[in-house]
Amino acid sequence: MAEEQKQRLFIEQLKQVIEERAAKKGSPVTCHITTMGCQMNARDSEKLSGILSEIGCREIESEDADILLFNTCTVRENANEKLYGHLGIVKHFKKEKKDMLIGICGCMMQEQDEVLRIRTKYRFVDLVFGTHNIWKFPELLYACTTERQRVIDVEEETDDFRDHMPVRRKTGFKSGVNIMYGCNNFCSYCIVPYVRGREKSREPEDIIREIRALVKDGVKEIMLLGQNVNSYGKTLDLPVSFADLLRRICRIDGLLRVRFMTPHPKDLSDDLILAIRENPKVCRHIHLPLQSGSTRILKRMNRCYTKESYLSLVKRIRTLLPEIGLTTDVIVGFPGETEEDFQDTLDVVSRCEFQSAFTFVYSKRTGTPAAAFEDQVPPDVVSDRMKRLIDLVQSHASRVADRDQGTIAPVLVEEKDRHRDGYLTGRLGNNLMVHFPGEEAWIGQMVDVELVESKGFYYMGIRRD
Ligand code: SF4
Repeated sequence: MAEEQKQRLFIEQLKQVIEERAAKKGSPVTCHITTMGCQMNARDSEKLSGILSEIGCREIESEDADILLFNTCTVRENANEKLYGHLGIVKHFKKEKKDMLIGICGCMMQEQDEVLRIRTKYRFVDLVFGTHNIWKFPELLYACTTERQRVIDVEEETDDFRDHMPVRRKTGFKSGVNIMYGCNNFCSYCIVPYVRGREKSREPEDIIREIRALVKDGVKEIMLLGQNVNSYGKTLDLPVSFADLLRRICRIDGLLRVRFMTPHPKDLSDDLILAIRENPKVCRHIHLPLQSGSTRILKRMNRCYTKESYLSLVKRIRTLLPEIGLTTDVIVGFPGETEEDFQDTLDVVSRCEFQSAFTFVYSKRTGTPAAAFEDQVPPDVVSDRMKRLIDLVQSHASRVADRDQGTIAPVLVEEKDRHRDGYLTGRLGNNLMVHFPGEEAWIGQMVDVELVESKGFYYMGIRRD
């Protein structure tokens, strides 16, 4: 708590610094956060945004802001290059605006080589910090703004979770909640365990306290976040399973929906399936990354399950939760993938009837074991396989969506439809979207909607309550 109070103190001091700067320039101090990557990063950006807003900065859409932060991703090599592309542009902004402060944080800053590159070749970057000390942002920003010197502060590992800083949510009625950090799985293509560190879980009481406060603040739906949520709790002094955490969270009054992202097929227990079944608040949607349907490739990926065990898991889920919407991730062209391996992937995709799938072309990531695998699949073979996979996913997806056409289901209204005047867009429990005529005042409410027409990946509907 002492550390939190210290950061609060920096926030108070920063308020004064920002106020003085605004008075000097005759307009509010502006800020912008460019977020790359996954939902964990999106949540981290909400925390950064909360702090910036608390100290009096005004968030703007453009990167030409007084305080500019890049919250980076490093999952793919081209994600790193994306940052350098941005830096090439904003360097010119800074030439025009000497007081501009440019900061970089996120997973990429947990890589020593990248920090060295920034330190030596991008001298106009003022602030660098990593994922383990994001909670120290007020202190680092204060040092940077008052001492006008570069601050580079990256920690390799931490046991500290500080999730009590101000947060500025993108939407008032939905929020992500980190339940754990890091990953122990070391899938052979993935850099995350090297940059986010070993798996660590937050204490359940801490998570429950955060969710209660969110609900009090108007949140109706939460997304529990972690790299591998269903191995939650294993590292706690008093271990708690993810299933039990979910049961406890569902008892919170006023909370209407709970989602989670991402479970690993190897750790998804029968108890978790039962916990979902017992609790109508848990949305009937599971994102279950497949990656490949070939046992041989799964072994090379170090995924720790087989084609058969994945299929049997899906069967158990569907038996106990017949209404579940399943989605997945698939990597095409992993080194050594033969046509026979790919046929296994198509076979699993056909049998699991996914509602949708994120399909990725394998991309070599320096620093992972798979980057050293030699038998890369030629690009023309990969693109042909990708096309066949997408066709298959789409045909199943539209068949799955057609089944619910004509039913009435609860929808959380999220926003105005971006393409049709007078329409709203909402989300079903199974994660599919519905567009229907309605009033802006309904945004943030749960309403019953008839799914009048299935459009494959979404529905057109009419409110029926
Ligand atoms: S489970 Fe595998 S893919 Fe997911 S973060 Fe961990 S190592 Fe990466």
